[in-house]
Amino acid sequence: MTTQIAQLVSLQELDQRLQQKEQQLEDLHQQVASVRSEKETRQQEAEERQQRISELESQQRETDGQLKLEEEKIKEKRVRLNRVRNEREQLALQREIELMKEANGQIEESILSVMEQLEEERQHLADIQTRLEELDSQLAEEAVEVEKHIAGLEEEAQADRRQREEIVADLDASLCARYERIFGNRGALAVVEVRDGTCQGCYMRIPPHMCNQIQSSQIQGSSEIFHCPHPYCGRIVYIQVEADGVSGA
Ligand SMILES: [Zn+2]
Repeated sequence: MTTQIAQLVSLQELDQRLQQKEQQLEDLHQQVASVRSEKETRQQEAEERQQRISELESQQRETDGQLKLEEEKIKEKRVRLNRVRNEREQLALQREIELMKEANGQIEESILSVMEQLEEERQHLADIQTRLEELDSQLAEEAVEVEKHIAGLEEEAQADRRQREEIVADLDASLCARYERIFGNRGALAVVEVRDGTCQGCYMRIPPHMCNQIQSSQIQGSSEIFHCPHPYCGRIVYIQVEADGVSGA
């Protein structure tokens, strides 16, 4: 390996490491964000349930009041019934009382249904509040852990970036730009070995005459850079020349 290729290989290792760290950082941020977002959704839901409970409670008060009023009226009718001596009037009053009792039965039914709904809504609200408490403690724990993890990763990434600057400073600027372009377009793999005549980036055969060129250029210590000839690859290729001059190509 020529110095230039060796530098590109170390640059690539560094860049791959950096990319992994950046991905890890993104995942960690995402992890916290998703807990926060669930918390927001649940809070919203809790508010809606609370609103519904208030509505049902006021409906309950209203119906209870209505029922009491109607019961008062029935009582009054009964008092009158005891005083009335006329049979026809008695029958009419009895009929009226029956009808009123029937109507009250309906009010009682609607009170029951509101009570059932209230019970259900309160249970939902309690469940949401339990989940919210869980999310809160999860956030409190994660916030500390994740922040620590993030700080560590960022520190490591900083060190990698400094090391990167040193390598880049030694490299030819246009070669470096070319490397970066390939790295960005070819799945974080820009410099690859040719092993057994095959590009280790796209796994296509490299023509033998080109393998020979790469090899002899490297043995001579030339700074010439070779690219994989296959379209959709074009990665920078090198051949690992062993100490005794025998290569894997
Ligand atoms: Zn290739």
